[in-house]
Amino acid sequence: MRLSRYFLPVLKENPAEAQIVSHRLMLRAGMIKQSAAGIYSWLPLGLKVLKNIETIVHEEQAKAGHLAMLMPTIQSADLWRESGRYDDYGEEMLRIKDRHGRDMLFTPTAEELITDIFRGHVTSYKDMPLTMYQIQWKFRDERRPRFGVMRGREFYMKDGYNFDLTKEDAMHAYNRHLVSYLRTYERMGLQAIPMRADSGPIGGDDTHEFLVLAETGESEVFYDSAVTDLTFGDRDINYDDKAQCQSIMEEFTTKYARTDETHDEALFAEVPQERRKVARGIEVGQIFYFGTKYSEAMGATVQDADGKQVPVHMGSHGIGVSRLVGAIIEASHDDKGIIWPEGVTPFHCGIVNLKQGDAEADAACEDLYRQLTKAGLEPLYDDRNERAGGKFATMDLIGLPWRLTVGPRGLKNGVVELTCRKTGDSEELTPEAAIAKVIARYM
Ligand code: ATP
Ligand code: MG
Repeated sequence: MRLSRYFLPVLKENPAEAQIVSHRLMLRAGMIKQSAAGIYSWLPLGLKVLKNIETIVHEEQAKAGHLAMLMPTIQSADLWRESGRYDDYGEEMLRIKDRHGRDMLFTPTAEELITDIFRGHVTSYKDMPLTMYQIQWKFRDERRPRFGVMRGREFYMKDGYNFDLTKEDAMHAYNRHLVSYLRTYERMGLQAIPMRADSGPIGGDDTHEFLVLAETGESEVFYDSAVTDLTFGDRDINYDDKAQCQSIMEEFTTKYARTDETHDEALFAEVPQERRKVARGIEVGQIFYFGTKYSEAMGATVQDADGKQVPVHMGSHGIGVSRLVGAIIEASHDDKGIIWPEGVTPFHCGIVNLKQGDAEADAACEDLYRQLTKAGLEPLYDDRNERAGGKFATMDLIGLPWRLTVGPRGLKNGVVELTCRKTGDSEELTPEAAIAKVIARYM
């Protein structure tokens, strides 16, 4: 992409309405624009990051054997009356009437609709286990929308649902989600710690929230600092292997880590004093096992091997896809701007031409651009007729992990400059060597 043809409405000043750094930087970098309280347009740069996050979620769900599908945002109230949640959900639910006066709603989550799909098609234990998920817009009329996309009213969420014959199978689904989520967040450059939590209006006993530690997080968390030493890394996972998934679940959830809703002072006191931490976190996902709550209320039963009709065991599993854009920035920025992890960056590499219009510099930039593109990467070439300082400030603000700087002086010596956004380190390399280095980062 050439910056001269892009839509990147960066702001020089800090927007007064933004209280936290991710909100400020998303507005300043021209990623989003608010259209109403808690409702945002995603501008081209923001949308790219949102889509990158979505892609990682899809890839990791596919590995776990979960099937992507898509349900409507507008749903009939009838199903929600069946489960009893039409009344329970309260003012967070956006209720709508259609022209015939029928009660409709904008989906805040989709347990009812997926259960209806399941009961309409699955009648035998032989068709299970089954896990389906979607990545779809949700609406919750939050009392206090704030912090930009972190607590929106409209937000983008992955919600997955498992249907299993037994509790044991459903717990395997739970563990599978826990494992796949660990990998998902790590690929985004995040450490998200599973913490024992409270299930709220979804219902059920077994639930973990995934929290990214950050001062601006809305949840108070209590944990054994040893949990922050755990990394998922490059493990080979067989998602059908119950024992393997169970043991990873135990590895990541045995040490004390809880949100304030389930915090237990007596248990916490057993953690060695120097490892006891109280901090704040951003909830970027949550997994639930809730048994037969919805299947019983809505008559989702199957025939088991003995020919008996039994209600299915279910769970649901969410990832805050749009909230993650903010959470990643909270975890990765400096006073100049965003620092994108390579896994989600909107462009792989920036190219800054120090002297636009200089035949040699222009040609060298074009060549870098062509070669990076040919290698399957997406560079962002600042080809505007602007001061170098302004170009650097924009690149730092939008946070691309790598920047190639090209100017007549370097070219005389046969070099360009390659700069790492995170460390600030620069080195002079031949154009070929610089490109090879950038490409290698993304292989
Ligand atoms: P919270 O406690 O933050 O209100 P929740 O527990 O009600 O969230 P879930 O039903 O678990 O939310 O939804 C799954 C994920 O969707 C959450 O972990 C969070 O990352 C994201 N999410 C929930 N509400 C919002 C919101 N208002 N804006 C952006 N993301 C949200
Ligand atoms: Mg939650």
